[in-house]
Amino acid sequence: GWRNINRFSTAAAVEDLITPQVPIRYTQHLINGKFVDAASGKTFPAYDPRTGEVIANVAEGDVEDINRAVSAARKAFDEGPWPKMSAYERSRILLRFADLVEKHSDELAALETWNNGKPYEQAKTELPLFVRLFHYYAGWADKIHGLTVPADGDYHVQTLHEPVGVAGQIIPWNFPLVMFAWKVGPALACGNTIVLKTAEQTPLTALFAAKLFHEAGLPEGVLNIVSGYGPTAGAALASHMDVDKLAFTGSTDTGKIVLELAARSNLKPVTLELGGKSPFIVFDDADVDKAVELAHFALFFNQGQCCCAGSRTFVHERVYDEFLEKSKKRALRRVVGDPFKKGVEQGPQIDGEQFEKVLRYIKSGIESNATLECGGDRLGSKGFFIQPTVFSNVQDDMLIAQDEIFGPVQSILKFKDTDEVIARANRTRYGLAAGVFTKNVETAHTMMRALKAGTVWINCFDVFDAAIPFGGYKMSGIGREKGIYSLHNYLQLAFTGSTDTGKIVLELAARSNL
Ligand code: NAD
Repeated sequence: GWRNINRFSTAAAVEDLITPQVPIRYTQHLINGKFVDAASGKTFPAYDPRTGEVIANVAEGDVEDINRAVSAARKAFDEGPWPKMSAYERSRILLRFADLVEKHSDELAALETWNNGKPYEQAKTELPLFVRLFHYYAGWADKIHGLTVPADGDYHVQTLHEPVGVAGQIIPWNFPLVMFAWKVGPALACGNTIVLKTAEQTPLTALFAAKLFHEAGLPEGVLNIVSGYGPTAGAALASHMDVDKLAFTGSTDTGKIVLELAARSNLKPVTLELGGKSPFIVFDDADVDKAVELAHFALFFNQGQCCCAGSRTFVHERVYDEFLEKSKKRALRRVVGDPFKKGVEQGPQIDGEQFEKVLRYIKSGIESNATLECGGDRLGSKGFFIQPTVFSNVQDDMLIAQDEIFGPVQSILKFKDTDEVIARANRTRYGLAAGVFTKNVETAHTMMRALKAGTVWINCFDVFDAAIPFGGYKMSGIGREKGIYSLHNYLQLAFTGSTDTGKIVLELAARSNL
């Protein structure tokens, strides 16, 4: 039965690994259009999370590399063609880049899987999202303009939407390419230049993508990629006096640090996409089989390493027992193994640190008397594989119901009525997303408004589209990304107003045909 499938796939994963058909071409920083070593000459290892083995040594950025990248971005902004180029031409470069990514998408997906551990089949579905995002922002590039504002008297007032300047961007490891797209797409469409620091766990795909951008005609210095650790390279970027805007995705703790660094340096505006503890709420009118499948997906997708993971599964008491039984069966059926193998749903966690952290949370769940329904341990002896784990009888005050676990651990909680579940779902420091499963449109509408979350998915989960904004309430962040909202993050608004111009305009009208 399922147990054999589970064991077999994992045993095979560690004994009989598929060798990725992809070379690792780029490991240096990309600064001013050129691949260069770290100023210190240092490198750090990039790993294969299936085994924990080193697959590449990557240039390790620090203050001096960030300084070099920022000055390249500054020069490209102040003197280079990018912000002054016609918006249509910028848009065409974004489109050419999207074409190149499409052409290389199997290779990019393979590199993503190799360095991150997510199933290759899943990585392949993330590439069209990536491409779509660049199509979307290419479409915006030549539609960004200000307004003429009616003003009292004969003032002539207009607003200018100008690029902010040099954008510093710091991204996490769970969706390395998708996060690259969310950050780089809107910033470039608006005419900014960029220094992007990738997560130390996943430096490889961004370097490849940035190389393709240059092949697409991006001028040098416009997009600079520095690899390295957070407290060194990341902190240098966040506190740089010549960085005009900072966009960060990662944990809430680090979000606070970078916000402080920005405040203490040049007061650069900061957008933050942080952690979550999203509720997934199943009402008693729901189709239980569908709810089980969706709740499973909401939590286990991407090895449970999603900021918006539905990590508190609230289930109405009338369907609780059936839901629990079926959820447990579904978790036991989940195919864990070598992410390059067909049909594998779950690969390893990203690294030893996250792996240990998830196992510690599982231990804490057991110690706090939640019921361990299945899983609860590592799989195999190599790499960072964890059994799909389900806890029932979870109470709101348990650590596993409060902290972001960021792993394949589902916590199931029972509720009685709507008001109760609203209050409990909102009783969290986070507010990134929520899921609601019901056939009742009235319940759906009530929940949509009552839940304090940046995204409320009704009868669906993890629906992402380039045009849909994403971001958090409370300690899940500041600002929104994607859609039209992301443009505001990368634009500076200037007013110009003059009586003189107003007079000139009036005079011209008067002198012509009145
Ligand atoms: P993290 O905060 O440790 O790292 C994220 C990035 O910040 C990395 O590039 C890291 O090098 C950098 N960083 C670390 N310390 C820094 C410092 N002192 N100064 C500047 N930069 C620093 O987070 P993580 O553990 O790698 O990622 C997982 C977290 O990210 C989770 O909490 C998850 O919820 C969150 N996340 C949020 C979203 C979102 O859109 N809201 C998306 C993905 C991940």
